[in-house]
Amino acid sequence: MNIHTTKPAKGVFINNYWAPAQSGQTVDVIAPADGMVFAKIAAGGKADIDRAVKAARAAAESGPWPRMTATERGRLLSKLAVLIADNAEELAKLEARDTGKPMKQAKADIVAAARYFEFYGGAADKLHGETIPFLNGYFVPTERVPFGVTGHIIPWNYPAQMFGRTIAPALAVGNATVIKPAEEACLTPLRLAELAAEAGFPEGVINVVPGLGEDAGAALSSHPDIDFIAFTGSPEVGTLIQIAAAKNHIGCTLELGGKSPHVLFADADLDVAVPVIVNTVVQNAGQTCSAGSRLLVERSAYDRVVDSVQKKFNTLQAGTPEMDLDLGPVISAGQKKRVEGFFERAKEKGVPIAAEGSVAKGVPAGGYFVAPRIYGPVPRSNELATNEVFGPVLSILPFDDEDDAIGLANGTEFGLMAGIWSKDGSRALRVARHVKAGQVYVNAYGAGGGIELPFGGMKKSGHGREKGFEALYEFSTLKTLIIKHD
Ligand code: NAP
Ligand code: MG
Repeated sequence: MNIHTTKPAKGVFINNYWAPAQSGQTVDVIAPADGMVFAKIAAGGKADIDRAVKAARAAAESGPWPRMTATERGRLLSKLAVLIADNAEELAKLEARDTGKPMKQAKADIVAAARYFEFYGGAADKLHGETIPFLNGYFVPTERVPFGVTGHIIPWNYPAQMFGRTIAPALAVGNATVIKPAEEACLTPLRLAELAAEAGFPEGVINVVPGLGEDAGAALSSHPDIDFIAFTGSPEVGTLIQIAAAKNHIGCTLELGGKSPHVLFADADLDVAVPVIVNTVVQNAGQTCSAGSRLLVERSAYDRVVDSVQKKFNTLQAGTPEMDLDLGPVISAGQKKRVEGFFERAKEKGVPIAAEGSVAKGVPAGGYFVAPRIYGPVPRSNELATNEVFGPVLSILPFDDEDDAIGLANGTEFGLMAGIWSKDGSRALRVARHVKAGQVYVNAYGAGGGIELPFGGMKKSGHGREKGFEALYEFSTLKTLIIKHD
């Protein structure tokens, strides 16, 4: 990336105002579909994070925000949902340009972003405490209270959705927020913050500081005056976030990706399963933490399944957002290199390619396009069977029986999602209950889908839950009042 010192087009968003980064520096924003610079964002740093955290602290403790009822907070969230829907076309175009994804995917993402604010707008005044039976003469209620200031570090794969996913529940319970979006794609979070101000969120409740991870991100995660940090991204940076949180004795949620398996038994309905499976690894060019990137197939059905998946894969095409094909480019030159590194090492190891899609004719030469690929049979010890590629790459592995399938499904460090495909309901349920993952689908799979559904990892996929009602617990803490009345 290139850093300049010209005036930023999009600055840091603090107290509902735009300002340049204090350093005066900017970062070029590159369109993945052609590799060209099309915008500049502020290169926020420590000083900007400091201002944002101060603004959030003031908003969390004085002014209108802490005095609002839960219903009033919910109404603001709902209003923002409507504003997002009203501006969906513009937001989808911005998201598609910034990330390279096909327009249909970008449109679906904006619908999902709005849905986060709609869901948590409705949920804001439904979170309640309990009363605890205690000694005679005592009355003991509990209440859920906000932490105060929450920090949010989000990745580039679904910027608009991630913005909604991480701040909507935090706001619903009454926190003030500071968000550090990914420098590679942050234009929709910046625009959404502006829409939030239009919806009426008070100054300091939503602050967005774009900038590099090692500057703005590190400054936010280690800031002594934040009360909680939510992170989605790579396991390596997740470690740094957890260390920073530990030094400040605050909690964190980490969502660190996966190598999620589809477990496909011979009796599965392939007409239903195959299109879903293929889509879960091609969606967003495979840059989805919950991508179903391993297809585990009962050996007796292996050839039949590979044949069916191949037919579908061979028709897939990568293109620009406007071409609106099956997938777009990957996010950056670096990510393309990373995916191609897997290809080179697979070639060295002689892992067979089972099928390959194509890059559409006429795409700009500078775009970061990768033709989608299936490898299979992938040896169990190969990195394609165990490591997250974060690209449009499906690994197929055969299994022998139910126990073998469970062992294989659980045979990576990750545990984010899984899909079980079988017409035998008892078996599907047995396997689903033995697979270690935060979400397990049976005869369905929704990479990234379902705002209502608690989502997060087991094992090295991280900890904590976002989405659903569960996120309201994650972004709040419990206070117990012990009242003696006799
Ligand atoms: P990453 O570096 O972990 O980025 C995630 C977020 O963390 C970005 O906002 C990033 O900022 C920020 N960050 C980076 N270094 C930081 C630091 N030292 N302190 C605080 N924040 C920091 O992920 P990536 O480099 O973009 O992608 C690398 C790999 O991570 C991918 O190939 C994929 O395997 C995985 N990944 C997973 C997910 C997921 O949804 N679980 C999402 C994205 C990536 P900048 O980007 O501005 O530097
Ligand atoms: Mg990065």
